[in-house]
Amino acid sequence: MAFVEVYLDRIYHNAAFLNNLCAKKGIGVVGVTKVTCGDPAVARSLNKASIKIIGESRIENIERMKKAGIDSEFMLLRPPERSKIKEALELADYFLVSDLAILEAFVAADIETEVHGYIYMVDTGDLREGVWYREAEDELKEALKIARDKLLGIGTNLGCYGGVIATPEKFQILIDLSERLKRFTGFQLKILSAGNTASLPLVEYGTIPEGINQFRLGESIVCGTDVTNNRIVPGTRQDTFILHGEIIELKRKPSVPEGEIGQDAFGRKPHFEDRGVRLRAILDLGEQDVLPSGLIPLEQGIEVLHASSDHLIVDLTECPKEFRVGDTLSFRMSYGALLRVMTSKYVRKEYIHELQKGQSR
Ligand SMILES: *Cc1c(COP(=O)(O)O)cnc(C)c1O
Repeated sequence: MAFVEVYLDRIYHNAAFLNNLCAKKGIGVVGVTKVTCGDPAVARSLNKASIKIIGESRIENIERMKKAGIDSEFMLLRPPERSKIKEALELADYFLVSDLAILEAFVAADIETEVHGYIYMVDTGDLREGVWYREAEDELKEALKIARDKLLGIGTNLGCYGGVIATPEKFQILIDLSERLKRFTGFQLKILSAGNTASLPLVEYGTIPEGINQFRLGESIVCGTDVTNNRIVPGTRQDTFILHGEIIELKRKPSVPEGEIGQDAFGRKPHFEDRGVRLRAILDLGEQDVLPSGLIPLEQGIEVLHASSDHLIVDLTECPKEFRVGDTLSFRMSYGALLRVMTSKYVRKEYIHELQKGQSR
């Protein structure tokens, strides 16, 4: 069975490194675990690295972590369906909200004595969630009327839909909005929640405007990468998760199919280049488990060709190593590939604690 190794100490390293980096600029980190489906072992590593708030997009994941004994504060990054709002209030402490109707529904159901806080999202150009920044002032005043002192702050998200790159000007929008709200209502927002991983360069280069005091970080902690800026995040490790698939067929075959070509199993029109006869392996993985384009083989000379639901085809012709059926091939993964691997119930998760292993010897 295919399996993924989760290197908890490497994730801890990334979390501690980024938490320190942000702390130096007065920025608190929310550690986002959604790519791991709320894996409790990963959450524990983040808490151990002094990250106090775990960010999650789904209440099922928060429930999973709480059941596993994760004693942390939680931020729900995306509202659930309306019928689950009461449940969400029982599970999380902070909520990102981007619609007045949803905020109303939250506040109406929020009658417990526990203190919940809301962060209203502002769209600064990426076109995912939030009120469009040019129209934000009036909507924020409405949000304040609804949530009153439970409106903790405002936030924005970049690099997700539009792939928009973070700049100081984008974050200045949050600061200006906060100041205008203060001027007109006398109300001081406590949190300006600026970024996800895509915004980290501003912290690294020291160009983040003063006043921004929260970052929500997932990819950079979990993968050590920043896909929006197409880079590795300096100071982090990328070997946090390693996927292993087993060879279930090993054969030499032509590189071009024989017969009239229609569409593949996913309705895609395949293209082939004639490279002669190739040595190909089939692994026990498929589109159900991975994003084939996001797999990075650890061995030199291996090329991922294609996957259907359950068959991953790789070309081993250029690899100097000899393989046999039953051997495993190993991969690092992009964020997208990791998301599928962690979501697939067919991929076994193995947790590696290197430091503890070392100590017990
Ligand atoms: C997923 C998510 C994050 C974390 O983003 P990364 O790019 O993984 O750092 C932050 N904020 C919101 C609202 C999110 O949905």
